[in-house]
Amino acid sequence: MKTEAAVLVETGKPLELVSLEIPPLSRGQCLVEIAYSGACHTQILEARGRRGEDPWLPHCLGHEASGIVLEVGDGVTRASPGDRVALSWIKANGIEAGGSTYDWNGKTVNAGAVTTFQRHTVVSENRVTVLPDGLEMTQAILLGCALPTGMGAVLNVGKPIEGEAVVVFGTGGVGLCAVMGAVVSNCNPVIAIDLLESKLEKARAFGATHTIDSSKEDAITRIAEICPGGVDIAIEATGRPVVMAAALSAARSQGGRAVVIGNAPKGQTVTLDPLEFNQGKSLLGTWGGDAKPDRDFPLFASLMTEKKIDVEPLLSEPYRFDEINNALDDLEAGRIGRPLIKMKDS
Ligand SMILES: [Zn+2]
Repeated sequence: MKTEAAVLVETGKPLELVSLEIPPLSRGQCLVEIAYSGACHTQILEARGRRGEDPWLPHCLGHEASGIVLEVGDGVTRASPGDRVALSWIKANGIEAGGSTYDWNGKTVNAGAVTTFQRHTVVSENRVTVLPDGLEMTQAILLGCALPTGMGAVLNVGKPIEGEAVVVFGTGGVGLCAVMGAVVSNCNPVIAIDLLESKLEKARAFGATHTIDSSKEDAITRIAEICPGGVDIAIEATGRPVVMAAALSAARSQGGRAVVIGNAPKGQTVTLDPLEFNQGKSLLGTWGGDAKPDRDFPLFASLMTEKKIDVEPLLSEPYRFDEINNALDDLEAGRIGRPLIKMKDS
């Protein structure tokens, strides 16, 4: 069986839409027909060649999607044919089956344990989570990356106490999910910072109590006015080292936590004032918001199905599969929150 995929053949060039032969399933793998794929800055870094040398070219891409299981390999217990599922790069329980290779007219195309810029995909069962009834396939793509990363960075890493002050630097898809995480945790104030007014408007819609346009005013000065003494939790979601340092300086002495989510281009470094550590602030990293799909995805899904969070404004208008390069361009330019790429024609 063949499928159509958007493959990275050469970094710095648009993805190529090609026809791939799907390999037979190995133990622990599932074949999934993708309904919608998202995309995030990780794929932009990969596609533009900003993660350093890429030894896997040509390869498939994408790590957040929704779809329907068509077939399962030996040993798979997490899903059955016909199940509606979310695909995520974050490992859940179950078999780690590793990556796959596809045949492209005699050439080998590599793929990791989960890839989603394709109409059908072979994924490791531990990247598959069955969806609860009532969750839209469009919204389910957010379980793959943005919600666990952004919301998890607040809930699992920042560990807010009700009433604590939170600031979120950068209100792209992940940053907006962090804002939602602070709001559902009853934090106050919830301050959102960005360079684009259109994104700050979304942050207010998601419940931010204050917004700062850092293209017009100094964010650190303004945070100090809103929250003298600093914030309890500062979330960095920009991928810029200078902002990572700013997040630490925005945190309060004796107990403030700065959480770095963003991915900086390879080779960049961050400069910090070591005095911040002596003041009792913590600088924390996170791997996907420290999310555990089996524990956290049911919570995130129920927040969506019970309408405790409204994620619709985060999603772009649907792109057709053959518009996938435009989706990446629009994401890179900050024109959209999360691209919603419709993978199945009908
Ligand atoms: Zn991602």
